[in-house]
Amino acid sequence: MLNETVRKQFPILDQKVNEHSLVYLDSAATSQKPQTVIDTVKNYYELYNSNVHRGVHTLGSRATEGYEGAREKVREFINAKSIKEVIFARGTTTAINTVAHSYGRENLSEGDEIVLTKMEHHSNIIPWQQVAKVTGATLKYLPLQKDGTISLDDVREMVTDRTKIVAMSHVSNVLGTINPIKEVAKIAHDNGAVIVVDGAQSVPHMSVDVQDLDADFYAFSAHKCVVQQV
Ligand code: PMP
Repeated sequence: MLNETVRKQFPILDQKVNEHSLVYLDSAATSQKPQTVIDTVKNYYELYNSNVHRGVHTLGSRATEGYEGAREKVREFINAKSIKEVIFARGTTTAINTVAHSYGRENLSEGDEIVLTKMEHHSNIIPWQQVAKVTGATLKYLPLQKDGTISLDDVREMVTDRTKIVAMSHVSNVLGTINPIKEVAKIAHDNGAVIVVDGAQSVPHMSVDVQDLDADFYAFSAHKCVVQQV
C-alpha cells in the first residue's frame, strides 16, 4: 500500500475509476505528477510565461532563471561535471535520436560497428538502424544469457577497434536487468568507442552518477521521474 503521505502529493490519485480508488501502475511509461510539479508549471503560465534567453524584460529574466536553475538541479542530480553537459530534450527517444543523428552521422562510416544488446527498447534501436543505413556502419547485437543478463566476456569479444559506438540500456524496461555500464564503458573506451546509455528506467529507480559510470552520453526522461517530498 502506497504511503498516504506520498499518495496525497499526487492529486490525480484522488479519484475513483470503475468504482475503485485509482491505482496507477504505468509509471515506466510516464509517472504521475506531484502537486509541487503541477504548481511550478501553473506558476510559470500564471506569473512569468515568456521566452528564455530572449526577452530582457522581467518576465524573460524570471523564465531564464527558472530554466537555467533547473539545468543546475539536473546536473547535481546525475553528478554531471558541468551544466554545459545537460541538454534538455522531450524525453529519451528524442535524446537518443539527437545523439544518433548528430554524433553518429558525423563519426560513423562504412566498416564501423555499432554494438547494441538484444534487450533494447525500440528508442535505442531505430535511430541506430537509420544511422547505419545512411553511413554504411554495421549493427551488432550482444546476446542475452538465460537469466536475461549480458556477459562481459561477450562484450570483450564483440567490442573491437571497429566499434565506434556502444548503445545500451542501464535498466531494461522488459526484463528489469541492470547492465554493468561502468565495466562496459571501460571496454568501449579501451577500444576507442563511446558509450550511449539509455537511462529511461534507471534514473527513476536508482541514484546515477554519470562521472562514476564514465558515460559519454546518458539519456533519460524527466517525465518518468517521480519527485517525492516525504
Ligand atoms: N527507453 C526505455 C528503456 C524506456 O522504457 C522508454 C519508455 N518506455 C524509452 C526509452 C522511451 O522514453 P520516452 O518516452 O521518454 O521517449
